[in-house]
Amino acid sequence: MMIDWDNLGFNYIKTPYRYLSIWKDGEWDEGTLTEDNTLHIHEGSAALHYGQQSFEGLKAYRCKDGSINLFRVEENARRMNRSAERLLMAQIPEEKFIHAVKEVVKANEEYVPPYGTGATLYIRPLLIGIGEGVGVNPAPEYLFTVFCTPVGAYFKGGLTPTNFIVSDYDRAAPQGTGAIKVGGNYAASLYPGQEAHDRHFSDCIYLDPATHTKIEEVGSANFFGITKENQFVTPLSPSILPSITKYSLLYLAEHRLGLEVIEGDVYLDQLDQYTEAGACGTAAVISPIGGIQTFDSFHVFYSETEVGPVTQKLYDELTGIQFGDVEAPEGWIQKV
Ligand SMILES: *Cc1c(COP(=O)(O)O)cnc(C)c1O
Repeated sequence: MMIDWDNLGFNYIKTPYRYLSIWKDGEWDEGTLTEDNTLHIHEGSAALHYGQQSFEGLKAYRCKDGSINLFRVEENARRMNRSAERLLMAQIPEEKFIHAVKEVVKANEEYVPPYGTGATLYIRPLLIGIGEGVGVNPAPEYLFTVFCTPVGAYFKGGLTPTNFIVSDYDRAAPQGTGAIKVGGNYAASLYPGQEAHDRHFSDCIYLDPATHTKIEEVGSANFFGITKENQFVTPLSPSILPSITKYSLLYLAEHRLGLEVIEGDVYLDQLDQYTEAGACGTAAVISPIGGIQTFDSFHVFYSETEVGPVTQKLYDELTGIQFGDVEAPEGWIQKV
């Protein structure tokens, strides 16, 4: 195995083992590690036709002492079960989910990038409806798999802001599936994302689908802003995906940085209240937002080229905790 840890991107690199478990006749089988990275499923599987599927994303972090950290993995387990509940899929016992993640990381340990490279092992749990069917019904069987692949640091050589553009499209409906992590939301986001890329923006910003006046999501990451009064503000809406990173930042902003934190409305016509803004999520970690192209203007936050001081502090605190260099709040870290 020869991996250039410093130059990894976000691409699939095959690792030796993945976990696989099947739910049938009302129960999960024991689950097993397998070397086969191809799924063999019925052509009528509900996941393929009707999008009955959900996924998760988390990372394993190599610490200075060589041990491996998982960050708030039980929150991923809970969120996958909320997705399963909404799409009438079989739920996965939290212990089974966490066990599967740990088994996969252990089995592929040599693919957990070294401390100091900023690279991590990205872990992808997937739950899909399978088995014979053709009508619009919940599937008779479910497949739960967890695979992993090493990914590079999102930013190499310091946080760099990028620009975003407000989309004309919605990624989710007001009472639809925006709050659960399902592939359908992503299929719907490919076209608006492509439009943004074609216009040389990092990604698009989705507004609240009911009134189109408030910021909801930044591509596939959550939004936060820092106000002139040093408040950490992040949108609150039933169609936003509840990002574990975002809720972690809400906590850290309040308890470690001493900021006032607000979950509320972020109006597009009041962006000048914010001195800094960022996108956050497991993949993006914290990505500073340089500017936002709205329907009629281009709004710059801190700077188009430099990260703001609060965003930098939040980033250092969060990644410090994830890599084991900064003391974590109770229960946030599990060792593999
Ligand atoms: C996964 C995801 C996020 C980020 O969530 P994290 O738990 O922080 O990784 C944000 N928005 C969308 C739409 C997502 O699917």
